Amino acid sequence: MGTDWVPGARLAGSRIIEAEPPADAPVVGVLALQGDVLEHLRALAEAGARPVRVRSLADLDSVDGLVIPGGESTTIGMLLDRAGMLHVLRGRAEDGMPMFGTCAGLILLSRELAQERLQHLIGVLDVTTRRNAFGRQVDSFETDLTVVGMDRAIPAVFIRAPWIERVGAEVDVLASVGDHAVLVSQGHLLAASFHPELTGDRRLHAMFVDRVRDAVGRRGAARAAR
Ligand code: GLN
Repeated sequence: MGTDWVPGARLAGSRIIEAEPPADAPVVGVLALQGDVLEHLRALAEAGARPVRVRSLADLDSVDGLVIPGGESTTIGMLLDRAGMLHVLRGRAEDGMPMFGTCAGLILLSRELAQERLQHLIGVLDVTTRRNAFGRQVDSFETDLTVVGMDRAIPAVFIRAPWIERVGAEVDVLASVGDHAVLVSQGHLLAASFHPELTGDRRLHAMFVDRVRDAVGRRGAARAAR
């Protein structure tokens, strides 16, 4: 089972066990088939969630929300398809499970890619995304991003990053680089071109954990009303 609680201190190889998260901390999964999983687990713990790795369909049952990390979107998509998880994730997202895709994760959530090449997508976020969009000279870069609703800019690390070329009517653009959206929100879905897990700034993870907490609260209220 991938429901092991992974405190930041243990990730660093220390024997020190950090304080358990509060009992009501939402359980947030990180899709752990490929990519930068550990950094997201740590960021989520710091943002007040109980993070767990999700490697299989069974692992999905225990989570309230899911982070889809950066990595290689073609590889993650293929592994999702093989594990029979692609359609299930699409269904969960359509049923309201909060998901946060970063870099390759944004690509996987996208409904459409600007490139012709076929690859497996979860396809629930109404955007058209271009892979590796920032070009060779700026394969990787760091910049400060102004984000709608945040009083201070956030540091953002872009690594062979995609950008978003079209956003649907339901999608809010929260940050852009030049003319291109790099952070968007659509209801319970959040997606970034960059890697918020690689900086010490936890505000985006905290925003996501808040959404997961809200979704858990709404589910609880709906159950109570039945
Ligand atoms: N270039 C990768 C892709 O197309 C994404 C890069 C990343 O996640 N850092 O999937």
